[in-house]
Amino acid sequence: MNELEKMIEAHGVDIGTDVVKVDSFLNHRIDVGLATAIGRELAAAFAEDRPDCILTVEASGIAAALTTAQALGNIPVIFAKKGSRRNVGGDVYTAEVYSFTHQQSNSIHVSRSFLTEGMSVLIVDDFLANGEAVEGLRSILRQARAELIGVGVCVEKGFQPGGRRLRDEGIKVVSLAIVDAIRDGKILLHQR
Ligand code: 5GP
Repeated sequence: MNELEKMIEAHGVDIGTDVVKVDSFLNHRIDVGLATAIGRELAAAFAEDRPDCILTVEASGIAAALTTAQALGNIPVIFAKKGSRRNVGGDVYTAEVYSFTHQQSNSIHVSRSFLTEGMSVLIVDDFLANGEAVEGLRSILRQARAELIGVGVCVEKGFQPGGRRLRDEGIKVVSLAIVDAIRDGKILLHQR
């Protein structure tokens, strides 16, 4: 069991049957030692793919993206910003992302100057659920003609289809913890 799985067992909180609350250590209050360990593990999984940069979404993907980038030798982190803004002269790539947790659609954007044709990009995020956030980021990569080398996430919710869909497309997906189900108030982690 890795450090993230241990933390989810000890401090993860279920909300209903489909939301995992990890805000005491991952995405509101951040346990920096854990974030560093996450970065080390994701970096080890993708080092051979030699990404040029990491792409994530603000705000909760940034911590894991940063520590992964550090462990990969301080490659840059680009985070998509949320909210619509005037696309002056087409200076940003944009996509729409439906948020599972907030049940609303958000525009995200990335400056064209930071993502350029031919870059090898690793997507990192805190959660992978229905895959909407990753699809939005993939759309931005397509607009930039950049290459996706894989998707690294802290927590995958195996009972939602995002991870399976990406793997079915042949995309390398690495999740440090997979939640199989939330049942009787317990978060059930996939046993490896
Ligand atoms: P997806 O786009 O794959 O459906 O969901 C991923 C995004 O939704 C992540 O960026 C994450 O912020 C949020 N998310 C999805 N499910 C959960 C959850 O169970 N708990 C938390 N804290 N965030 C979630």
